[in-house]
Amino acid sequence: MRLTKFFAPTLKDDPTDADVISHKLLVRAGMIRQVARGIYDYLPLGLRVIRRIEKIVREELDQAGCQEILMPAICPAELWEESGRWGHYGKELLRIRDRNDREFCFGPTHEEVVTDLVRGEIRSYRDLPKNLYQVQTKFRDEVRPRFGLMRGREFLMKDGYSFHADREDAEREYHEMYAVYERIFTRCGLEFRAVEADTGAIGGSLSHEFQVLASSGEDEIAACDQCLYAANIEKAEIKAPPARETAFAEGEAPRLVETPEKRTIEEVSSFLDLPAAHFLKTLIYVQANGEPVAALVRGDHKISEAKLRSLLGTEALTLAEPDVVREVTGAPVGFAGPVGLSLPIVADFALQEMATAVAGANQADHHLLDICPSRDLPDGTTFADLRQAQAGETCPRCENGKYQIHRGIESGQVFYLGTKYSEALGATFLNHQGKERPLEMGCYGIGISRTLAAAVEQSHDENGIIWPMPLAPFTVQIVPTKMKDDAIRAAAESLYLDLCERKVDVLLDDRDERPGVKFKDADLMGTPLRITIGPRGLEKGIVEMRPRAGGETEELPLETAGAVIAERAGVGR
Ligand code: ATP
Ligand code: MG
Repeated sequence: MRLTKFFAPTLKDDPTDADVISHKLLVRAGMIRQVARGIYDYLPLGLRVIRRIEKIVREELDQAGCQEILMPAICPAELWEESGRWGHYGKELLRIRDRNDREFCFGPTHEEVVTDLVRGEIRSYRDLPKNLYQVQTKFRDEVRPRFGLMRGREFLMKDGYSFHADREDAEREYHEMYAVYERIFTRCGLEFRAVEADTGAIGGSLSHEFQVLASSGEDEIAACDQCLYAANIEKAEIKAPPARETAFAEGEAPRLVETPEKRTIEEVSSFLDLPAAHFLKTLIYVQANGEPVAALVRGDHKISEAKLRSLLGTEALTLAEPDVVREVTGAPVGFAGPVGLSLPIVADFALQEMATAVAGANQADHHLLDICPSRDLPDGTTFADLRQAQAGETCPRCENGKYQIHRGIESGQVFYLGTKYSEALGATFLNHQGKERPLEMGCYGIGISRTLAAAVEQSHDENGIIWPMPLAPFTVQIVPTKMKDDAIRAAAESLYLDLCERKVDVLLDDRDERPGVKFKDADLMGTPLRITIGPRGLEKGIVEMRPRAGGETEELPLETAGAVIAERAGVGR
């Protein structure tokens, strides 16, 4: 492709509405443009990357026996009513009416439609298993569309669904898809971790997220440095401490101390000159049923609301309002503590290891010193894993490695769904014994457009994008320093034609611009190999090859340059 003919409007300055680097760089490099909030045009450069990701995805899925279909983007409300999600999905679901006032939605995901498809066609165990996928535009009316393609409202997703005769086969497929996803993200040239995940609104019980690692990621992940275990810090399991037999002198009891206006752990810890790890943090929550509960964690730990919610078996959990705190503790916010509290109490199991601790006294401006958790916490206190994982904690799975904390961008997710949708929609088959059973299902998503953004978040510098070779819109960018110079132009043209013939994705910067401008654009667009053709080199019969990712600039003899570059570009990828 010749740049003079190509539609890649680059910008000098960052767009004012962009907060994250991928959004800034994708707009500046002329890859995307915003049409409305969370809705984008893909320009030729951006679309080329999308096509690369799609190609890898399709090749790997097809190889694994999955079959591509295309379902409608507009889905009838009735199917969503059958699954019960028409009522539950909330405002993220874009609902539309046709001219006859019939309700539809713009599909945010397609469990209903695909289950409807197979319930009419799959009759017997002989028709199973099947794995169907599509690459399609989805719409989710996100509350906060932001970060460009990372959280759009309209976005491109690969969604796949599998159908099985029994759970065993569904789990086999789940593991197969897990392996396929590992291959896909590896082939994309991305650094990632597969992370145990919450199953969220889709339901089911076995799920992993594929997180592309990037310091700007929304998700915080604890990953073992020895084994494969990784999970969101809210979910990552923590090794239970050994139970502590605390000896304490007869008659010792907590002592009341005045802590005027000192509410937070930070304030009290500096006032009493004791480390945060010496404190108990007491948080009062209200559950979905309106019942308050007190949750305790060590002063230097953070509560995991996800773990708390699952321990309590409640759908919703909110921190209590100040008037509720006063009502249940008898003190204003900041002075709650477990001693003498008549509320259900759940405590992180790290408290079992503490000999003594400081906590609020349930009295304004007072705390209690010398609380011995094993002696002073009310009977009936439940101890459990309730805190967020931190760096350096021992992995509970291999009991050997330590947690490292990474940030990641959820770019894909695999779920074992069970029979949630097949039962709701009556998608059944006749098993070996001739009995009618609901289909076992799995579902598997990849955010194609988010993966593009994630690649940029993971790999860029102050000058622009650094595409991993497999995703780059062009692999090679030829930069003749002076198009008006006949010798330079001729050399550039001949190398360009040579590379085209060798099936290298090459962009020739044939603009009549200064070299500085061309170099800047090449860096911004992130093309992995830049070939500079200038007067001094040409006199010696050489061109320069500079890798965008850093490393040595090499001089290549003009005659053999085409072959060397093609090899480096990994033609046939
Ligand atoms: P998130 O938790 O980030 O909202 P999700 O878990 O709801 O995402 P899934 O239902 O698992 O998303 O969808 C499959 C994939 O689609 C995700 O792994 C992600 O890559 C992509 N995706 C989801 N929502 C968006 C969005 N608003 N913009 C771009 N991609 C998205
Ligand atoms: Mg997800």
